[in-house]
Amino acid sequence: MGSDGHGHRDDGGPAGVVAMVGAGQLARMTHQAAVDYGVTLRVLAHGADDPAVVAGAEPVYGTATSLDDLTVLADGADVLTMDHELVPNDHLVALERSGHHVRPGPAAFRLSQDKLAARSVLEALGIEGLAVPAHAEVCRPKDVVAFAEAHGWPVVVKARGSAYDGRGVHVVTSPDAVAAVVPEEGGDIAWMVEEHVELAAEVAVVVARRSSGDMVAYPVVGTRQEDGMCVELVQPAPIPDELARGATGIATSVVEAVDATGIVAVELFVTADGTLLLNELAMRPHNSGHVTIEASETSQFHNHLRAVLGWPLGPTDQRSPAATVNVIGRSGGGDPRRRVADALGVPGAHVHLYGKGWRPGRKLGHVTVLAETTEDALERARVAARLLEEA
Ligand code: ADP
Repeated sequence: MGSDGHGHRDDGGPAGVVAMVGAGQLARMTHQAAVDYGVTLRVLAHGADDPAVVAGAEPVYGTATSLDDLTVLADGADVLTMDHELVPNDHLVALERSGHHVRPGPAAFRLSQDKLAARSVLEALGIEGLAVPAHAEVCRPKDVVAFAEAHGWPVVVKARGSAYDGRGVHVVTSPDAVAAVVPEEGGDIAWMVEEHVELAAEVAVVVARRSSGDMVAYPVVGTRQEDGMCVELVQPAPIPDELARGATGIATSVVEAVDATGIVAVELFVTADGTLLLNELAMRPHNSGHVTIEASETSQFHNHLRAVLGWPLGPTDQRSPAATVNVIGRSGGGDPRRRVADALGVPGAHVHLYGKGWRPGRKLGHVTVLAETTEDALERARVAARLLEEA
């Protein structure tokens, strides 16, 4: 069997098994891509209702904090990869030591698990054009106050890890408000603080890289968040070409420098004066890449599989301007599965539901539309998504 030097099959041999930690919507859509390639996606799931299991991925039931469960998941698979960050990095190191192929490798993956470590490591890389928001570690409430006195209120207090969709992000406006976020005596959460950036825009660059070093980047996406959660995006991002080239250059340099494998979503802030600040790295298929399913030659899910298996990466050219709008559980809303026909009545609406039960604030699916302009695509995707969210 041919190999890229890391035990991966890259000679067209049997496709084999990819093991994925997690069985949510990202695993579900990765499974859909795996079906195309004759690859078995084996997922670490909580139960038979998990989105990827419902879609037919092979389940191993267990938890990501159990090395035993992870070992059962990884044994016999060609490669282990992740659909979320909530797996102890030490376990990934242990799995590598016991001969499993972990992609991305634990050292790179840590940068998607610890925002403070990511800030420090990325800053130290000295990549031209790469800047991160001013930041500091927080052990006690007084660390937040000291940082704010040096940088100005408000500040953003963030959980260093184990949070997503903005759930660990708090804008803190005064010394009195700090105690509500950071307890005086320890607590379970490790915190950091950073400057509150005046955002003109948020963009993301989705990159795929295999361990041989080959790399492709998708056109830059412009994202919009509400309460820290991505709610919609357009591709290409509505920013000047030069800025888009800068964002792509930073993203590919970072992915290369940290030796990441698989899909990496690089999220950047654009400030009012046109400066780019790197916010975070996600080392897995990502919400900002969902648009690639229809808008690109190769979806992020196909390229994630190709990258972690060491297979040739697919082209990322964009077919047309596009927009994706998330379908979110609204209070007073309903299960989107009952409204699919209505949404499909919107011209050009590509509907993706995740097979998840309705709950307020939960991402239940997304709609992508390709159109002549991103504005038109966004307008129609919004109409379809709102129909799906209704009771
Ligand atoms: P998560 O990992 O939960 O997605 P992020 O760190 O990406 O958390 O923050 C979520 C959102 O909160 C960002 O997309 C941005 O809109 C806002 N945000 C985060 N950090 C800052 C900051 N320093 N200044 C201004 N807004 C921020």
